[in-house]
Amino acid sequence: MTKSRLLDRYSETRDDMVRLLIDRGITSPDVLHAMAQVERHLFVPLPLRNHAYDDAALPIGEGQTISQPFTVAVMTEALKVGNGDKVLEIGTGSGYQAAILAAMGVRVFTIERIPSLLKSARSILENLGVRFLSKLSDGSMGWKELSPFDGILVTAGAPDIPKPLVEQLKVGKRLVVPVGSQDFQQMKVVTKISDNNDFKVTELADFKFVPLIGKEGWPSGRSLGEGMSSNGREG
Ligand code: SAM
Repeated sequence: MTKSRLLDRYSETRDDMVRLLIDRGITSPDVLHAMAQVERHLFVPLPLRNHAYDDAALPIGEGQTISQPFTVAVMTEALKVGNGDKVLEIGTGSGYQAAILAAMGVRVFTIERIPSLLKSARSILENLGVRFLSKLSDGSMGWKELSPFDGILVTAGAPDIPKPLVEQLKVGKRLVVPVGSQDFQQMKVVTKISDNNDFKVTELADFKFVPLIGKEGWPSGRSLGEGMSSNGREG
């Protein structure tokens, strides 16, 4: 990625984006470094490239979005993972969040339910030389065969904390998941505290995500728009 960064005409706007993240309270050097490195413009549709470093969610097709940079930073920071950790992401979407985790040295496993999005994300990530494992599936059930994980990130809004995901965490590790209605969710940081799947929850701010569709999510049917949330925090 270093080589393309030298030629990258968006590097200044990306640095501006990182400064904004610092102003908004992101402090993790690993997260900020990854967000300064990963070329978000490669993950957004061509006509929207000039907006790639706006602090906004953008449409990626199929009624889905690439999350707002601030949202990605908050979730990644809350996960508290680093080099060599094994992390499961639910909702591959554009592949951007997966690339951020990989830039932090994380071993990335990612699940998407929409075939065209997974195909496109795989192609972008492979072109960038990102190492990851992905599958097309209902991620609300996790990826049991590859568990336990050092962290799990759900990048779509769930009606409740998906219990299979807690089961697939190592003790002491975190699941970061937006939970609430289909219109607004509160970001929850769920720490597994025992082998019996007991957990404690801390709550961050409210966000607006597209819905997690699946057995431990919402039934498919109603498709949400991609409107801007009133608090400006979009998934
Ligand atoms: N992390 C993505 C990125 O970096 O671009 C953004 C994710 S987008 C806000 C939410 C994604 O979750 C959508 O691509 C959607 O199709 C996916 N999704 C929703 N329910 C899912 C499920 N049960 N399993 C896997 N993916 C799901």
